[in-house]
Amino acid sequence: MSVAENLGKIRERIRQAALRAGREPDAVRLVAVSKTKPAAAIEEAFACGQQIFGENYVQELVGKKGELPPEISWHFIGNLQSNKVRQIAGMVDLIHSVDRLSLAAEIDRQWGALGKVCEVLIQVNISQEETKGGTSSDELFQLVRDVAKLSNLRVVGLMTMPPFFDDPEGARPYFRELRELARKLEAAAIPGVSMLELSMGMSGDFEAAIEEGATLVRVGSALFGEREYR
Ligand SMILES: *Cc1c(COP(=O)(O)O)cnc(C)c1O
Repeated sequence: MSVAENLGKIRERIRQAALRAGREPDAVRLVAVSKTKPAAAIEEAFACGQQIFGENYVQELVGKKGELPPEISWHFIGNLQSNKVRQIAGMVDLIHSVDRLSLAAEIDRQWGALGKVCEVLIQVNISQEETKGGTSSDELFQLVRDVAKLSNLRVVGLMTMPPFFDDPEGARPYFRELRELARKLEAAAIPGVSMLELSMGMSGDFEAAIEEGATLVRVGSALFGEREYR
């Protein structure tokens, strides 16, 4: 099936999931996760009106951005090393994966040097899996308070990646927990911090995530096909 057909189906599934939850379909944005996929696949989705693309690797993002239309909005969704932040400074509209103060400080420094502000999500590792990035739920509040003091960076929400389940219902409690953490952070009313965005849900479980409040779903393989890693 073509990217265009996949995109049409995913949009309809997003719409239906939002309606089931009594939400506005427009309140959910699709991040097309294009890691390892060629620029041509991104162009095909862009031609169908897809605006936001998510990338995991700095070099790959820089390469593709140079080849593709400047109207594309890029999000960085992968683990980010501080020493690579400079290479993407000013190039992305949202970083989903801030999970430590040292990384936030480097983003603040690099965006500040451009006179810009970077919007970020704090990634939470709810399940405490060692192989995944993200701050623990316990350390989340202190991290958000510390990051909020940086002037060239703005926290606009949270992101999580639950453990893998064959059944998307397995991920639902993690989505619910992320929403609950966002609610508590909102109640804490930390100056400069908003909880507008919840980035959760991937190809296998984005509908459950939308039912639990996702505003950004990160969908790769359901849109572009399975990935091959070299
Ligand atoms: C690769 C990736 C996705 C997309 O996963 P699919 O299962 O292919 O939809 C989403 N989020 C992150 C952080 C990823 O690394």
